[in-house]
Amino acid sequence: MAALIGTACSAQDPPAAAPGPDPVDTTAAAVRTTSAPRHEFDRTAHSTTDPASMWVIVNKSHPIHPLDYEPAITLVRGYQVATPAAGPLTALLAASDRQGLGLKIASAFRSFGYQEGVYGDLVAADGREEADRVSARPGYSEHQTGLAVDLVTPASPACDFEACFASTPGGRWLAHDAWRFGFVLRYGPGTAAVTGYSPEPWHLRYVGRALAAELRRTHTTTLEEFFGVAGGDYRS
Ligand SMILES: [Zn+2]
Repeated sequence: MAALIGTACSAQDPPAAAPGPDPVDTTAAAVRTTSAPRHEFDRTAHSTTDPASMWVIVNKSHPIHPLDYEPAITLVRGYQVATPAAGPLTALLAASDRQGLGLKIASAFRSFGYQEGVYGDLVAADGREEADRVSARPGYSEHQTGLAVDLVTPASPACDFEACFASTPGGRWLAHDAWRFGFVLRYGPGTAAVTGYSPEPWHLRYVGRALAAELRRTHTTTLEEFFGVAGGDYRS
């Protein structure tokens, strides 16, 4: 089961196959022309449809298949996380502790049955439209992969699950540094039409260090755009 996890190792393509610049030729232009063909990122290295793949895309157009999928779980600070993400998340939280940020997990793996209960209660109370606004339908939540976690910062409890989380020191640190641990902020500013979700600066998604670094390098803010996969709202 662990065999599909390439994680960070696959990130290290050999350096430039292209002839290196002369050691004295370090102008910006020279760097640009020699860095372009340096490496091709292999977008097919991992599946985007297998729920056990760290590159899986789950959104309102792409439910988890099978719908009742459950990942192999490892506990991180008492929360259930898909095993491949556990080590990197532990490292991220330890780094946040060292920075004095003390970020904490508020939610991690959520099963199909759990989401079914949450969503069903919301529909019963407020109707489907309102339920869709605040909750993923069962089978459509990235949390069911175990690769997504929601973090909160004890310094600003009022910003738990709120837009203002982005401006807390912890939120800013995540936006800047989460990629170093292989995580991305899945629902960034200005991406709702693509991802189907309003910005959630507290929602981290593990994709592995190689992809996180490539997204950053190419200034790509969504998995949908990077892999050319449809997103947006539910089809019905
Ligand atoms: Zn979340």
